[in-house]
Amino acid sequence: MIRHHPAEASLIACAAGTIPIAHAHVIRSHAARCPACAAGLRTAGDTGGALLDGLAPAPMAPDALARTLARLEATPVGSAPVAPAFDLAALASGRWRRVAPGIAIMKLLPRDATDSRLDLIRVAPGRALLSHGHTGPETTCVLTGAFADGTGIFAAGDCVEADAALDHTPCALPGEDCICLIATTHHLRAHSWLGRLVRPLLGM
Ligand SMILES: [Zn+2]
Repeated sequence: MIRHHPAEASLIACAAGTIPIAHAHVIRSHAARCPACAAGLRTAGDTGGALLDGLAPAPMAPDALARTLARLEATPVGSAPVAPAFDLAALASGRWRRVAPGIAIMKLLPRDATDSRLDLIRVAPGRALLSHGHTGPETTCVLTGAFADGTGIFAAGDCVEADAALDHTPCALPGEDCICLIATTHHLRAHSWLGRLVRPLLGM
């Protein structure tokens, strides 16, 4: 059962395309598992469309209508996705890189112009990440397993949003590997000498 959802403001920003694409992918991955947030994304998209309707008309290219209609016709009706298709399986075809005992990372999207990146992280049951803080937002969707970090317990499907104020030591719970899709903006702040040593290796 999903217990943790993105903030409403994040759903609206995701629908409006005003957050970095890495964070949007994480929120949409959660929404693919969460009917409530999928509906929230659709409502936010519809609301944005209604707001656009209220704007003063602006001149458009002569073929704008024809091109828009052509794109609509190309979109299958009925099972309309809430998102531009995000194929995690296709994106996650890279290699796991072991970064510590029981911990591996797969880079999905490299750091972009917003200084955001998208990764998969896999943590063996009972293993903890090094204690760290953040210098920017982090959005996580748990894909398998579960972890706890002192602020809560997060299981498959849950979405966790953190900001620069969060310091935590996530630890995978017993059971299966905990695999998370994580978007981070800016860098992590390691609290230990070991963390400071490892952080450049991770690039995080
Ligand atoms: Zn949700």
